[in-house]
Amino acid sequence: SVQAYDENNIFAKILKGEIPCHKVYEDEHTLAFMDVMPQAPGHLLVIPKTGSRNLLDADPAVLAHVIPVVQKLAVAAKDAFEADGVFIAQFNEPAAGQTVFHLHFHVIPRREGEPLKP
Ligand code: 5GP
Repeated sequence: SVQAYDENNIFAKILKGEIPCHKVYEDEHTLAFMDVMPQAPGHLLVIPKTGSRNLLDADPAVLAHVIPVVQKLAVAAKDAFEADGVFIAQFNEPAAGQTVFHLHFHVIPRREGEPLKP
């Protein structure tokens, strides 16, 4: 069973403009902004503007808008941060490490020999 979407989660507040963010991309369906606690330089988050708790309850039509943005920003971030690769991460439910309950994709540029922090 899927838990209800909490309209007051921190990313919902960012979408409503109640909490500031360092915006890097926005379109009709999608917002991307820098992660406040980056795991590597250039760590950003891509979220849909509609409320999904995580990937498990997401509308595939929404994903069809969001995934190309993840791709575009992965390419752009790799370039901008002169990275060797890009790590894409996405967590569903607390047991899997999710802490903010609005669907989001981590885009993390990676350099050779630079391990991810835990
Ligand atoms: P997850 O739910 O995928 O485990 O992690 C949520 C991510 O959101 C973390 O990387 C965390 O640093 C980031 N985060 C939490 N609160 C804020 C916030 O208020 N602003 C921004 N930009 N990022 C946040």
